[in-house]
Amino acid sequence: MKKIQMVDLKGQYNSIKDVVNPSIQEVIDSAFFINGPKVHEFQKNLENYLGVKHVIPCANGTDALQIAMMGLGLKPGDEVITADFTFAATVEVIALLNLTPVLVDVNPDDFNINIEAIKKAITPKTKAIVPVHLFGQCANMEAIMEIAKTHDLYVIEDNAQAIGANYTYTNGDKVKAGTIGDVGATSFFPSKNLGCYGDGGAIFTNNDELAHTIRGIVNHGMYERYHHDVVGVNSRLDSIQAAVLDAKLPYLDDYNKARQHAAKKYNEAFKDIDSITVPQISNNCDSICSNCDCHVFHQYTLRVTDVDRDALVKHLNEKGIPCGVYYPIPLHKQKAYLDERYNEDDFKVTNQLVKEVISLPMHTELDEEQIAYITSTVIKFING
Ligand SMILES: *Cc1c(COP(=O)(O)O)cnc(C)c1O
Repeated sequence: MKKIQMVDLKGQYNSIKDVVNPSIQEVIDSAFFINGPKVHEFQKNLENYLGVKHVIPCANGTDALQIAMMGLGLKPGDEVITADFTFAATVEVIALLNLTPVLVDVNPDDFNINIEAIKKAITPKTKAIVPVHLFGQCANMEAIMEIAKTHDLYVIEDNAQAIGANYTYTNGDKVKAGTIGDVGATSFFPSKNLGCYGDGGAIFTNNDELAHTIRGIVNHGMYERYHHDVVGVNSRLDSIQAAVLDAKLPYLDDYNKARQHAAKKYNEAFKDIDSITVPQISNNCDSICSNCDCHVFHQYTLRVTDVDRDALVKHLNEKGIPCGVYYPIPLHKQKAYLDERYNEDDFKVTNQLVKEVISLPMHTELDEEQIAYITSTVIKFING
């Protein structure tokens, strides 16, 4: 059996070398390292893939979130609601811009931001909601857009983990994750579903005016050469990363299918194990996500109850199975984001999830033998 990895970037590269290498070489030969034609090509191809009017590439996913908030003109003191159970980047940029992060609880079944908790957290100072499409599946965007409309709030989708995922409306219409709110942000960090070979990110929007504003912000607030109209940043996707991404984009759907296949195998193996809860698929999708892409499994995350989760992690590691705990500490308990206004009773789900979640290896190169070994090792441990 091949050595099991949490993410197999080497194996994936070996299978697409013949496409990626010439794309990178083209950039080196052209010496257009910054804002070269590859960046524009990739931008256009991603716009087509997502069905969105504007993609603005930038340096990483954290910048993408920050720039989206700058573009919307959010001001110090504005309250921004986001999930307590996510990677810190989401809340970090809110705090960095001197906006006020308001963390709220998530759902126990799909791990995404809880709609009732959002409603409860709204005050006259609330200006935006940042749903995080955690682990590869959209938050309940229909309900979130409705709340935003009622209270006149912006919606910024953190789509770092769900690129390529579809969101299915109640009427059956499907749209790509990240293109529903006012603006979406994604990351091309190497281990993300569409990853480059360094750092990269992008912002998506259907709003022409906002796209124009953001294009200036990523480039030092410049709309005309050497005229700086607003305070901007330097956040660029370099041409070599764009070359990698442009070569990989045509594989994204197949890669997501491979992840879904692995998730299905995991689900089947664990279906009769009482102490394991497999990830639930929400949002009007059929229960096993067999014919759609509404969950693209950036992570495959189980909840284990009546089991010592940390002992399971240790056991799997000893058996050569890497695994992860995403995330071990709720954001509202992180030193940088403590806020005396928070009440522990409002974070019951996140406080529980951090003790129960375990993410199994999930990538495009997992084979049947590896999956069988992983599932049998988990089950043997649980059955004692
Ligand atoms: C990865 C990630 C980010 C940040 O992306 P970077 O490219 O690493 O800056 C933001 N939010 C979430 C949910 C992520 O998973």
